[in-house]
Amino acid sequence: MTLFNNQTATTQRTLKQPITYVGIGLHTGKKASMIVRPATEGQGIHFHRKDVPAGTGFIPARWYNIVETRMSTVLGNEHGVTVSTVEHLLAALRGCGVDNAFIEIDGPEVPIMDGSAGPFVSLIEHIGTVSQDLTRHAIWIHQPIEVRTKDKFAIMMPSDMQRITVSIDFDNPVVGSQTLSVELVNEAFVKNVARARTFGFVSELKMLQRAGLIQGGSLNNAILVDGERIVNEEGLRFKDEFVRHKILDCYGDLSLAGVPILGHYYAHKPGHELNALFLEKLFDTYSAWSYISIDEYQQLMGQQQKVEGQDQNVEFADELEAKS
Ligand SMILES: [Zn+2]
Repeated sequence: MTLFNNQTATTQRTLKQPITYVGIGLHTGKKASMIVRPATEGQGIHFHRKDVPAGTGFIPARWYNIVETRMSTVLGNEHGVTVSTVEHLLAALRGCGVDNAFIEIDGPEVPIMDGSAGPFVSLIEHIGTVSQDLTRHAIWIHQPIEVRTKDKFAIMMPSDMQRITVSIDFDNPVVGSQTLSVELVNEAFVKNVARARTFGFVSELKMLQRAGLIQGGSLNNAILVDGERIVNEEGLRFKDEFVRHKILDCYGDLSLAGVPILGHYYAHKPGHELNALFLEKLFDTYSAWSYISIDEYQQLMGQQQKVEGQDQNVEFADELEAKS
């Protein structure tokens, strides 16, 4: 049974070799070069800012280090050093089955690349990953966990697969209401989610720029919507690229739990703030889940499948797409 991309293995994985990415930050507009290095087993994902005084730049990619969620997820440490827009890179690492990596960066923001996780995934797939000795664990959800803020909500439900469903509702004819559910197994992340780009509205551009945001935004790294029109000449990569990007953001943010979450995350109108609230609630509700090794989990699921006599491994996204 395959649980995740590259993850039939029950042990942790890291990169075969370091990967270098160079680009500008979406919000700061600052150029950064970033080297994603292999890391030893059990280390998890860490950022290391190289442009700050020695000993102050270390930031573990964990939920309790989230310091800002307004337009992107920003992580910070006790020295006040931050790294922003981490979500697409983290989604790529999780989606490619990388448990351990050490990310050196010489600026305050992860390069936005083309606004999706596609360029990160392409190089990770090109370089490849290697198996390590330590057992991989996951968070296994037993009971629903729910958070609400204004008209948004997220609920993590027990499920035998890692699945994310997102519904969005924008007062714009191009984006409008979209709902999609993706089971994050096999190639589903790479095929259905990774290449979906971030998006923005012409009507909000000036306000965001005045607030010092999207200084690096361009048609090369975001979909720009102007009323009923997509400004980008190439159009959309998927007809529902907007909701797919929201799934990407949720997946990246949820990876800040430190291990995969085996459950069904259903989020209505999600943003980074809602995802951060959910992670806080998750780690405040220990009775609702347990740490389990992938080994144990596969054995449990194997037994369950025998009882039910059916294959659980269905690509839900394609099914939904066919219906819409
Ligand atoms: Zn995003």
